[in-house]
Amino acid sequence: MNLRRAVALSVWWAIPVLAWSQQPSEMKPVTDRLAASIYNGPSMTTLGELADGIGGRLTASPAYVRSTEWAAAKFRSYGIENVRLEPFTIPAGWQRGTASGAMLAPLARPLSLASLGWAPSTPAGGVHGTVVTVADVAPDALRSREDELRGKIVFLDTAKIMAEGYGKALPKLESAWPTFQKAGVLAVIMPDREKNNVLNAHDSLWGAKLVPLPAAEIGMEDAKLIQRELERGPVTIQLTIENKTSGETTVNNVVAEIRGSERPDEWMLIGAHLDSWDFGTGAQDNGTGAISVLEIGRALMLLGKAPRRSVRLALWGGEEQGLLGSYAYTQTHQSELDKCVAVLNTDNGAGHPKGWKVEGREDLKKAMQPWSDGLLKDLNGGDLSLDTTYDTDHGPFVLQGIPALDLWVDMSHYFEIHHKSSDTLDKVDGLDFKAGEAIVAVTAYAIAQSETPIAPHIDHQAVGEILKKAKLEGLLEHVGVWKP
Ligand SMILES: [Zn+2]
Repeated sequence: MNLRRAVALSVWWAIPVLAWSQQPSEMKPVTDRLAASIYNGPSMTTLGELADGIGGRLTASPAYVRSTEWAAAKFRSYGIENVRLEPFTIPAGWQRGTASGAMLAPLARPLSLASLGWAPSTPAGGVHGTVVTVADVAPDALRSREDELRGKIVFLDTAKIMAEGYGKALPKLESAWPTFQKAGVLAVIMPDREKNNVLNAHDSLWGAKLVPLPAAEIGMEDAKLIQRELERGPVTIQLTIENKTSGETTVNNVVAEIRGSERPDEWMLIGAHLDSWDFGTGAQDNGTGAISVLEIGRALMLLGKAPRRSVRLALWGGEEQGLLGSYAYTQTHQSELDKCVAVLNTDNGAGHPKGWKVEGREDLKKAMQPWSDGLLKDLNGGDLSLDTTYDTDHGPFVLQGIPALDLWVDMSHYFEIHHKSSDTLDKVDGLDFKAGEAIVAVTAYAIAQSETPIAPHIDHQAVGEILKKAKLEGLLEHVGVWKP
């Protein structure tokens, strides 16, 4: 008997018999059925219904509301009985209307632009004025320029403003808007960062808050032209923007639950945001993620027997304005979060899958390894990354110390479509999309069925250490979701 065998035998005796039921190979017959159900399923057709049938789904817009009703009906059509719309509120509603603008002098030419999200309309007939560059939005720097800014259109040099990082720039930007308003600035323009005058939909403030002045993003080349002309002399531009704004607005998350067959009070959650920006139809940001949640619900119901623990299926609103729906859920469900064993999130597009991001948790990486090797490797999803972000809806659950994983896929082509008019169905590779879905489905089943929870919750201090390492603490404290 060699030493290795002796160790193996002693381990054998140490493992309770039940634990064998959670070996990856023991679960494989069921997870194979799940994966086959996904690969043979209607993901692309369902995505077409959402992306082409409903279109872009800006939070709280009529299209978003339609998408929540459509998704709830889908869950019910799969035989899931416990389906709810769960409301939360956002400070302001916003709907895009029309935007146009032109340089009047020294050249006469149209400008490639769009309204900034959560910005109001210009007065009827639009505004026109000379352009003044602002590259430093620190309160002191702006106060001394108030007279100079009166009656002007501010060109916000965001490349310089953001150079110190979003976390440090955001508080200054927030305080700059009221200063602009007080100084009598007519409107604000800011350059996009991508060539060919391509526009990326975005807003300026965290949390669906209105900015007080009309504001537009402007194509990169048009912005550079304005900057060069400003070196030669005055530049005059004209802007006309028409949007609809409203006060505090209710938004619904869609939440469905498949009750666990043995321990229904313990639960795991599979989530993705249903809202999108509105230039494209939100096919990959985050139509593919949202359809994954629906599809996994469908495939789990087809198994005929629910896994041990309950599986909650959540479609969030308000993600694009600061993960608002998922954050609201962690607040509303605070009293039962201790029963949440894990959260799986999907929101990085439908690129070729790699595996899971475990958000800075070494212990979770270690715990996942046997499942990654035993079940996910053959699905192209066996890799694990310690990368930590607060860029999508796993974030609020990470703050609660819950094991939260974000699907990790190849993103080398993602930013060609992200928040752009090209985020449409034709860019989705059906096979990569389904491969990602299958990885989420199999992981979800393994976590919900496993005898023991995948990994423990970690305490507030341990979460703080992860955030500090990822340099996220300052930003999250500033936006009010984290207290050290
Ligand atoms: Zn997204």
